[in-house]
Amino acid sequence: MLQTINRPDSPVSIIGAGIAGAWQALLFAQAGHAVTLHERGDEAMTDATSHWAGGMLAPYCEAEIAEPIISRLGLRSLDLWRRELPDTPFNGSLVVAHPRERNDFERFARMTEDHRRLDAAGLGALEPSLEGRFRDALFFPAEGHVEPRRVLPKLHERIRAAGGTIKFCSDVTPSELDGIVIDCRGISARDEHPQLRGVKGEMILIETDEVQLARPVRLIHPRWPLYVIPREHGLFMLGATSIETEDTGVSVRSALELLGAAYTVHPAFGEARILEFGSGLRPAFPDNLPRIGIRGGRISVNGLYRHGFLIAPALAELTLAYVERGQIDNEVMQCA
Ligand SMILES: Cc1cc2nc3c(=O)[nH]c(=O)nc-3n(C[C@H](O)[C@H](O)[C@H](O)COP(=O)(O)OP(=O)(O)OC[C@H]3O[C@@H](n4cnc5c(N)ncnc54)[C@H](O)[C@@H]3O)c2cc1C
Repeated sequence: MLQTINRPDSPVSIIGAGIAGAWQALLFAQAGHAVTLHERGDEAMTDATSHWAGGMLAPYCEAEIAEPIISRLGLRSLDLWRRELPDTPFNGSLVVAHPRERNDFERFARMTEDHRRLDAAGLGALEPSLEGRFRDALFFPAEGHVEPRRVLPKLHERIRAAGGTIKFCSDVTPSELDGIVIDCRGISARDEHPQLRGVKGEMILIETDEVQLARPVRLIHPRWPLYVIPREHGLFMLGATSIETEDTGVSVRSALELLGAAYTVHPAFGEARILEFGSGLRPAFPDNLPRIGIRGGRISVNGLYRHGFLIAPALAELTLAYVERGQIDNEVMQCA
């Protein structure tokens, strides 16, 4: 028997101010709930997986390997990003390939939708820095990207503006809080979800003014989707590996592959300065799908895996619809 929450005046405590918790706090605060967001770390958010992410909002590209539910949540989330942060860049994204990955490039084109094929001239017109670099490319015009280290503080600011309270350096557990509790602790929620695992993603931050890009560029790679994402002030993020380990070091092999991918996209990256190596653990359930777990007034939102930025807004909207109207989404929610 399903238990719904019919206590609109209950305080709402959200644990974890990463991308999942930040979107929950924002939508609940905007809906008039008394929200407190607890974050164990400080405002720099370096303990959050979200700090290390690429921030691509790419439901069409991800459809190559992800389940349809990710596309559904991702497409809805694009609307929510546009609504809440209208300055989010939606310049699309590009997919290119080395000639030896030609078959994989064609497979990628077959497995995905909403793209246009550009020839070399079309690619050069869109991204002048890539003129003459590739024979052709796939352009996904509806995709966007955010810079996690800028967008998390922006979301936190919006939560406060909507009347919510954020407590940094506040290490709490769901059982010690009253009212409605939404647990968004990511990989740290293993006390409640022993089946959660961390999937390491490594990244490198580099700086150069020799290359200008307006959108993420993915390079087809036999093992991982590697990409170069432009940030402000000549910075580029190179990402990301996907390794079944919870060791958070960056290996020489991964660094070579990430730097090699950038060099393939443009040789001028060879002269770029390396600013940072880093990695984060993507919180994943065994099926790699996100889950909203419901046990009375205790809700957990976890397993965002490699799609946190892409799907967090839609997950927050579903949680709010459950709390306010008892609405259940059978694909994502599990009720105890
Ligand atoms: C290299 C890399 C690249 C990625 N690129 C993308 C991408 O391009 N697009 C995309 O959509 N996704 C991407 N991801 C995936 C994305 O980063 C994750 O899905 C997402 O960050 C998970 O968010 P979360 O809020 O669940 O967890 P987290 O970001 O880890 O947040 C959990 C928070 O809870 C806090 N916390 C834990 N325990 C407590 C406690 N007891 N009390 C209070 N606070 C607590 C933690 O300090 C942390 O801040 C990438 C991931 C990596 C590693």
